[in-house]
Amino acid sequence: NYAGVQSSGFSDFFLKPELLNAISDCGFEHPSEVQQECIPNALLGLDILCQAKSGMGKTAVFTLATLQQLPVYDGNVTVLVVCHTRELAFQIASEYSRFSKYMTPEKGCETEARTVVVFGGVPKERQKQLLLTKRPNIIVGTPGRLKDLIDDGTISLDHIKHFVVDECDSVLDSSKMRSDISGFFVKCPRKKQVMMFTATLSQEMREMAMKYMESPQLVLVDDESRLTLHGLQQYYIDIKDDEEKEKRLIGLLDALEYNQIVIFVRSKHRAIKLNQALQKHKYPSTAVHGAMAQEDRLSEYHSFKTFKSRILISTDVFGRGVDFERVNIVVNYDMPRDADSYLHRVGRAGRFGTKGLAISYVTSSEDKEVLAKVQDRFEVKVETLPEEIDPSTY
Ligand code: ADP
Ligand code: MG
Repeated sequence: NYAGVQSSGFSDFFLKPELLNAISDCGFEHPSEVQQECIPNALLGLDILCQAKSGMGKTAVFTLATLQQLPVYDGNVTVLVVCHTRELAFQIASEYSRFSKYMTPEKGCETEARTVVVFGGVPKERQKQLLLTKRPNIIVGTPGRLKDLIDDGTISLDHIKHFVVDECDSVLDSSKMRSDISGFFVKCPRKKQVMMFTATLSQEMREMAMKYMESPQLVLVDDESRLTLHGLQQYYIDIKDDEEKEKRLIGLLDALEYNQIVIFVRSKHRAIKLNQALQKHKYPSTAVHGAMAQEDRLSEYHSFKTFKSRILISTDVFGRGVDFERVNIVVNYDMPRDADSYLHRVGRAGRFGTKGLAISYVTSSEDKEVLAKVQDRFEVKVETLPEEIDPSTY
């Protein structure tokens, strides 16, 4: 049995059938914790810095995410994966082969994955020939040999869309490799997805890695400190029924000062219903839920992410990992079922220790139990919402 297994399946990620088939051939049944945490964001093209202990399946995160986003083959290299050892480069390239086995025109797939691995210690000429004949769109390699082949013009980084550094702490720790990476980086287009993975990440290395990224998703699996949300004020409101929930929400929207607010509900049906109610009252709200088409979800995601909308109603599809940096208020319109989802949801506000406010509606005895568990597990005191809160504190 695989360590860190969660109950959901890979099909929840809306992967292409050719990828799902390959995953199933690999015998993967359930995504691991790090895959649960990273894949949804990686598929959205977000920058990711991920630390999770080895053997958690980090490789599949970036191979699947980049394969899913691979454009129709046109001969350009769009994916570059850099790692510190030859063996690892080879292993990563094999993962690409495994997962892309159905991505060929012969199998009726319009996107085609051609992977080439390059590393030192073998004749450069041979690799050069291979690159020229195979014309890969995915290249995996170690810094030294990559640099040679980029400098002599065999590999062009002009069309890179995804830049991955595996075992980034070792790569960035060596000043030679670090300067190679920086050299590659400036040769790539500015707009690209950057993903870095490691099992260990010191504060210093974290800062260094983040310099290469734009508001990265920081995913730290099995780090207890992620459980504490500094700077987040948490309150609850005892509430009778749906009618009162709606009335109080409108009161809150008028009274509170928010940049952006996320309102969590328990079902897609309730998301749609609440969205209609808010729009009837002229609030510019949008809603996302799992039953929406992936493109619609993406477009709602982008409009919220780019501040075009400010009130988002969501089921738990966006409860995990998604980073909206300007959200300062989260409302649990429906209390989540367990303490963990509570933490993931309220973690949408107060990212990276910034300030935020979380308000939970508590109605049933189950709601009260979850609230008690939250307080116990995360050692916070959640009090009833006061009449007034100083806006400068959230
Ligand atoms: P890491 O990069 O975290 O060290 P790897 O990606 O190398 O981990 O994966 C470790 C092993 O686990 C590999 O053999 C891989 O095939 C396997 N693996 C990864 N994800 C899953 C999964 N969801 N189910 C079963 N096995 C998996
Ligand atoms: Mg790894």
